[in-house]
Amino acid sequence: MEPSQIVCPSCKSNILTAKYEAKYVYSYIIDSNAPGLKNKEELLPFLYDNREQVEARQYIKCESCGKQFPCFFSTKSSGIDYNDLQKILSNDNNI
Ligand SMILES: [Zn+2]
Repeated sequence: MEPSQIVCPSCKSNILTAKYEAKYVYSYIIDSNAPGLKNKEELLPFLYDNREQVEARQYIKCESCGKQFPCFFSTKSSGIDYNDLQKILSNDNNI
């Protein structure tokens, strides 16, 4: 697939980026030493006791005009192909 075949419907730019925004809450149980059962001396952020994803948003963004095209590109194990991209970019709900 030629990258130039996919263009922004607003400005015709082909500089498009897939974005994945996510918000997580990391929890560290308070015990006798550093917060978190797995932390002993200091709090190491990756040694959490629980992680909960509270928000997630995926979209394709045109880097030229800033237009965003909401989609879910990580739900298909094979990724998204040319037809998927055309469908996403032609969606009327785009911001
Ligand atoms: Zn654009």
